[in-house]
Amino acid sequence: MTSCVFCDIISGSAPSDQLYADEELLVIQDIHPVAPVHVLVIPRKHIPSLNHLQPEDQALASRLLLTVPRIAHQLLGDDAAYRTIINTGAAAGQTVFHLHVHIISGRPFINHLLTRGLY
Ligand code: 5GP
Ligand code: ZN
Repeated sequence: MTSCVFCDIISGSAPSDQLYADEELLVIQDIHPVAPVHVLVIPRKHIPSLNHLQPEDQALASRLLLTVPRIAHQLLGDDAAYRTIINTGAAAGQTVFHLHVHIISGRPFINHLLTRGLY
């Protein structure tokens, strides 16, 4: 049996600090924030990673991406500056195998840290 912490959060069987929910998406606070703002935009559908996105997910993928600036504007205002991250595969740092977009903001970002995996 496979288990997925985000599916548990989506079903309500695990707790989360939720900012937004609709029929397709959930936005929650990351449990281990790496910056003052660190939220996760998560499709309700269990898609393990970007590699598993299918042509029939086109509308969902579009909605996922469009939700990012909408949430960022809510949290950070119209001139929101933030980093978005989608880790794909364990070797790239993915630890939860349910597609999600990180929105991270509120501290300086130095690009060379990204290459060291220290986002
Ligand atoms: P990944 O490394 O897969 O790109 O990101 C997974 C993220 O999910 C991490 O930033 C981690 O802190 C967060 N996370 C893992 N488990 C939980 C959880 O149970 N609740 C919440 N809110 N975030 C989680
Ligand atoms: Zn899942």
